[in-house]
Amino acid sequence: MKMPERVSPADLDARIARVVRDDIRALAGYRVADASGMIKLDAMENPFGLPGDVRSGLGTLAAAQALNRYPDPEARALKRVLRKTMQVPPGMELLLGNGSDEIIQLLALACARPGASMLGVEPSFAMFPLIARICGLAFVSVPLAGGFDLDTEAVLAAMARHRPALVLLAYPNNPTGNLFDHAALERIVAQAPGLVVIDEAYHPFARASFMSRLHDFPNLALMRTLSKLGLAGLRLGMLIGRPEWLAHIDKLRLPYNVNVLSQCAAAHVLEHGAILEQQAAAIRAERARLAGALAKLPGVHPYPSEANFILFRVARASALYDALKRRGILIKSLAGAHPALADCLRVSVGAPAENDAFLAALTASLPEIATSHA
Ligand SMILES: *Cc1c(COP(=O)(O)O)cnc(C)c1O
Repeated sequence: MKMPERVSPADLDARIARVVRDDIRALAGYRVADASGMIKLDAMENPFGLPGDVRSGLGTLAAAQALNRYPDPEARALKRVLRKTMQVPPGMELLLGNGSDEIIQLLALACARPGASMLGVEPSFAMFPLIARICGLAFVSVPLAGGFDLDTEAVLAAMARHRPALVLLAYPNNPTGNLFDHAALERIVAQAPGLVVIDEAYHPFARASFMSRLHDFPNLALMRTLSKLGLAGLRLGMLIGRPEWLAHIDKLRLPYNVNVLSQCAAAHVLEHGAILEQQAAAIRAERARLAGALAKLPGVHPYPSEANFILFRVARASALYDALKRRGILIKSLAGAHPALADCLRVSVGAPAENDAFLAALTASLPEIATSHA
């Protein structure tokens, strides 16, 4: 039998280069660290599982679904529950995505006319510029001021200069954890030439929102997600805004983007709504305890947070990240993410025992890295 011909790597590279876009080949994709066997404090997940009765209800419900059928393309039952739990103002519409990451992609695709841009601040969520570029939308980046505050005048000036189709701002911001000034955001919305989307992924921990302001502006929409609230595995994000805007974004959404199991599971858990709210309250209390403990450690400088994570600055952050990893604790290193984040690490707020383990590992690692040679 004839053996298949060996493929030369150079030939394969040349074939790929003829097919795959140059900018995509040059891209470093979004990488997720392997967390197996670790205490996982890197991805802002809710550390608490669901109670037994909610879990067994989920099992029964999943078993009753017709998996041979496509899901409800409009997810009507789930949207009814979401409207109620999120207090969506009457007259505003919801569009669901496979995580809010998908919503960002739909927004970017809708706006990607030749020469159009998306404006964001940096440091912020790494997916904003990544998705913009993938969709062929220029990304206009405005640096945050000292203390990671919004540099409102710089944003207004950049809007006047670049006329971005889309302004995307996270409220609270990730990875810095702070809430931008509400009045400053209103000025930005009022002066923006295009659509402004405020990403409220961390709303359960900040409890500040533009939801009640949607009616006041013709060009404002919000994003929410169930990921940080406690259902990251379901992949469910949403855009909330005027039906006139959402009707166009909805044409880009692939049919059935939210699967049957996610639809019924999300509705079921939200109908037991109090449980996730109680967990968010416990996370907020742990956040205060963790911030207090971090501030007491020599050389550790936590930033104020309204989210379910804490950004902190520390000398030799990369060595500390590695030392924590050796002790079985996975957090997020922001080395290389942005110059303003030099020596910054981000820890998600975990369950009390996880936070204790993190603090113990940190306390043990700090003297170790101080005496090591950088
Ligand atoms: C985590 C995060 C998201 C992504 O949420 P998914 O719904 O899980 O895709 C969106 N925006 C910000 C600012 C985030 O931190």
